[in-house]
Amino acid sequence: MPTNPLAYLGQQLDELKAAGSYFRLRELESACEAVSHADGREVINLASNNYLGLANHPKLKEAALEAVRKYGAGTGAVRTITGTLDMHMALERKIAAFKHTEACVVFQSGFAANAGTVSAILSPEDHIISDELNHASIIDGCRLSRAKIHVFRHRDVAHAIEKLAALKDEPGRKLLITDGVFSMDGDIGPLDQLTEAAEAHGAIMMVDDAHSSGVLGRNGRGTVDHFNLHGRVHVQVGTLSKAIGVLGGYVCGSKDLIEFLYHRARPFLFSTSHPPAVTAACNAAFDLLVEEPERIEKLWDNTRYFKAALKDKGFDTGVSETPITPIQVGEAKMAHAFSAALFEEGLWATGIGFPTVPKGKARIRAIVTAGHTTAHLDQAVEILAKVARRMAILP
Ligand SMILES: *Cc1c(COP(=O)(O)O)cnc(C)c1O
Repeated sequence: MPTNPLAYLGQQLDELKAAGSYFRLRELESACEAVSHADGREVINLASNNYLGLANHPKLKEAALEAVRKYGAGTGAVRTITGTLDMHMALERKIAAFKHTEACVVFQSGFAANAGTVSAILSPEDHIISDELNHASIIDGCRLSRAKIHVFRHRDVAHAIEKLAALKDEPGRKLLITDGVFSMDGDIGPLDQLTEAAEAHGAIMMVDDAHSSGVLGRNGRGTVDHFNLHGRVHVQVGTLSKAIGVLGGYVCGSKDLIEFLYHRARPFLFSTSHPPAVTAACNAAFDLLVEEPERIEKLWDNTRYFKAALKDKGFDTGVSETPITPIQVGEAKMAHAFSAALFEEGLWATGIGFPTVPKGKARIRAIVTAGHTTAHLDQAVEILAKVARRMAILP
């Protein structure tokens, strides 16, 4: 018998199990809704990024079905071959107008947008100044670019300026990059001050608005609108996978930036374009952001209500300023056990531990949506408090 050259993977999985960070995939058995069916249970769903409840919206579904009837199931190639439908261009124009930028390019995912863009616009002699908690797709884009990476402490503008100042006489371009909203803590990046710093040091400013698209700013235009920085942030990334409810990522900026990405971004050039159903549903979602902004108000009403109720029960919800609500637990094992016990009681909220968050900072992450009613949130808080007392997370 030859030995198994992949045996080390099994050993590493055993280590994950010992550390309490091994997981099994939960199976959603219904549409992603405020109350969903998963693993044979009906649960209040506080685990998704479906902020506005658009993932199962009739108008998105109808648009998708119509697109399938007219254009079929797939596009047959990458964007530069047969994979650009008229609707792809229409969506890019719509997003650019929505974001008040010259142009937009849509990628297959937010991950591809970040990784493809950073790696395309920078070279090994360039410098990236990056928040330590920036998303994995930014980190991968930075690594792929082979530019030098300078990490500043989370939301620490003075530290970012220190890094920029130290590079003053270095050759190469500088890119300052931050998440708009940080996905684990729900805090907002100091984009206003970082943009000033970028301007003062001649750096390119880039923001990843994955969790701010459809959430922050007028009609969900993101952090650039939230901080009123129109025209000053050179590269704006957004996602179509979270509040927009479907799948994809986009980059907004100048016409030159977008045309350059058409020619040089590797996921754009070498990976097949979105199927018609995806593009049509995204298109319908942007119409809803403009026509029915009350959905965003409801999201924020629910966010305030839920956070206040948790505080009232004595939970520590960290520094969040957005619908992402961490409930601090401590150790990873405890967070995963808490999450599992909540599920048994009818509440779906993800347990997150090391290495996704630092050791000792494990938490449950609850994300309210516009689709939740006050009754859902009340019930969720009751379940959280009951299970937390039973597990001695609350006194
Ligand atoms: C989710 C997320 C992404 C990736 O977006 P997808 O469209 O799911 O690939 C990128 N950046 C941040 C900050 C995210 O939270």
